[in-house]
Amino acid sequence: MNLNKKTILDIDVTGKKVLVRCDFNVPTDENGQITDDGRIVKTLPTINYLLDHGAAVILCSHMGRPKNGYEEKYSLKVVAQRLRELLGKTVWLAHDVVGVDAQLMVSTMKPGDIVLLENVRFEPGETKNDDTLAKRYAAMADIYVNDAFGSSHRAHSSTAGVTKYLPAVAGLLIKKELDLMVPARDNPTHPFLLVMGGSKVSDKIGVIDYLLNKVDNIIIGGGMSYTFTKALGGEIGNSLFEEDSVVYCRKLMKKAMELGVRIFLPVDNVAADSFSNDAATCICTDGEVPEGMMGLDIGPVTTKRFCEVIEKAGTIVWNGPMGVFEFPNFAEGTRKVAEAVANCQGISIIGGGDSAAAVEQFGLADKVSHVSTGGGASLDFFAGHSLPGIECLMDKDM
Ligand code: AMP
Repeated sequence: MNLNKKTILDIDVTGKKVLVRCDFNVPTDENGQITDDGRIVKTLPTINYLLDHGAAVILCSHMGRPKNGYEEKYSLKVVAQRLRELLGKTVWLAHDVVGVDAQLMVSTMKPGDIVLLENVRFEPGETKNDDTLAKRYAAMADIYVNDAFGSSHRAHSSTAGVTKYLPAVAGLLIKKELDLMVPARDNPTHPFLLVMGGSKVSDKIGVIDYLLNKVDNIIIGGGMSYTFTKALGGEIGNSLFEEDSVVYCRKLMKKAMELGVRIFLPVDNVAADSFSNDAATCICTDGEVPEGMMGLDIGPVTTKRFCEVIEKAGTIVWNGPMGVFEFPNFAEGTRKVAEAVANCQGISIIGGGDSAAAVEQFGLADKVSHVSTGGGASLDFFAGHSLPGIECLMDKDM
């Protein structure tokens, strides 16, 4: 897949209406208030660039998973309000996505104006990549910009379909993601270390498989490590386990051995008698977990060993916590690993999702080279899969 794509820096946007697909899928609390506006803040460079260069800016995004058209709790009203505060400018919110209200608002736009369309998933055709919907997006603008890295692994009308009908380029956030992640994946400084954790082996195993030919070392911690331990014949008690992945895990460990890639698994675990912060715990020192217990964090010897490998890495790609870091009593392994990643002199890429939440929680986000804004998208990227929302953008002239 060619990822050398044109960006807003390569085209003339002056006097144009520019439709920007953003990822404003921000978390909200029970009162509908935004609890973390990071995704909005990260889109500001693109919006400000377009405004400074005389464009009229039409913003669109999804939020949550509305099922049947308009649903108040998924309205982008809160996003419009936050954008007004952050930009210090008027942001008009259309009451629909591509309906009469949106079309009227857009038709009278002048350079410097900002319109936010309603949640694109209020349109039932959006997630089906409906062509009629894609044409209606395109009819509103002269240029399309994709800046929603976190949605770029989905071929939807507003991420892929629309690019058939408009000149389509990347925004500055996608540019930044690719500028940092493409060299890390395709031309890494060695030793190249992959750190994998979290709960689901099946989500992560494709990344291990794709990068096996490129990495020097792989650390596997968190819930997913127990399926590997079990695949080696170890006892794992009630720890997380994906039976369907056992054969694949064995195949990968064999392939790693043939390639001379070292896989580091936990040699000790913090185990609990229930899935709770206040559970009774013990440290199991043989890399296994006894019957009746579940491993919820890596143990101290493992943590030390993992950190030594991390500190020597030239490039680190990290995806997934080392334990249930949301419980303070099982956060130690993830915290120490996050500190080691932050202290490492090499390039460090955190692949979105829960590992991004962990480095934020430990106040280390600005000490790593890059925290990706796309959990699923960055996993697909590091698994070598195509990213449909990026693939369809215009190639750079060679
Ligand atoms: P993932 O989305 O696959 O990266 O998984 C992240 C989740 O994995 C977090 O919510 C962690 O609490 C959870 N997790 C990590 N280690 C374990 C474990 N040993 N047992 C159960 N859940 C875990």
